[in-house]
Amino acid sequence: MIRIDILTLLPELLESPLNHSIVQRAKDKGLATIFIHNIRDYGKGKYRQTDDYPFGGEAGMVIMIEPVYKIITQLKKEREYDEVIYMSPDGQILDQGISNSLSLKSNLIILCGHYKGVDHRIREHLITKEISVGNYVLSGGELPAAILCDSIIRLIPGSISDETSALSDSFQDNLLAPPVYTRPANFNGWKVPEVLLSGNPKLIREWQEAQSLERTKKLRPNLLK
Ligand code: SAH
Repeated sequence: MIRIDILTLLPELLESPLNHSIVQRAKDKGLATIFIHNIRDYGKGKYRQTDDYPFGGEAGMVIMIEPVYKIITQLKKEREYDEVIYMSPDGQILDQGISNSLSLKSNLIILCGHYKGVDHRIREHLITKEISVGNYVLSGGELPAAILCDSIIRLIPGSISDETSALSDSFQDNLLAPPVYTRPANFNGWKVPEVLLSGNPKLIREWQEAQSLERTKKLRPNLLK
């Protein structure tokens, strides 16, 4: 059972990805709970201000420390958190190893930035881990947070009906997954590899392992090092 608290200025962006498919099923089964906190609700004044111009006069807006501090300290009073994660293009690049280890945790906070980012003191004093989804810049941390949640939650035992399915995914053993096929076995003359129709589990497993290795050598040779 994992609890994830997500801090965002745009809760709408998280709704669809976290309310369907495997993530939704995991929530229904009580394997995961996700709470979304709108940073705006913690802003000050009539306009609930949550961002401001950067010192030094650069362009763009920066999320202020006060509202974020308020939510995080409130949450930490209620329970202990394993990690307070900031989604950031300059963070550690997400991979299956990070998702595996986070899927074993109990309580996570994920902060989504927007605009130019967040006041750096948030990162210096409140954040324990920074994660990037790749070397490119998105408009906000919401899609990255959804990616992180999905990759974590599908690893929790029970969230995928076929238990072995997550284990046979790419990267799980530093190998890419073998190709998969389904009916029809012959589509306009494009045929499924004969061995998969053989009904011989041993031969099929050997073929899959060989394919995994071959694809990894070709597409992700660095995984084999
Ligand atoms: N000025 C920042 C980018 C801000 S992008 C910089 O150059 O580093 C706005 C927000 O989107 C960030 O605060 C972060 O939360 C999120 N974001 C953008 N790209 C991301 C990525 N590749 N991985 C994770 N989060 C990202």
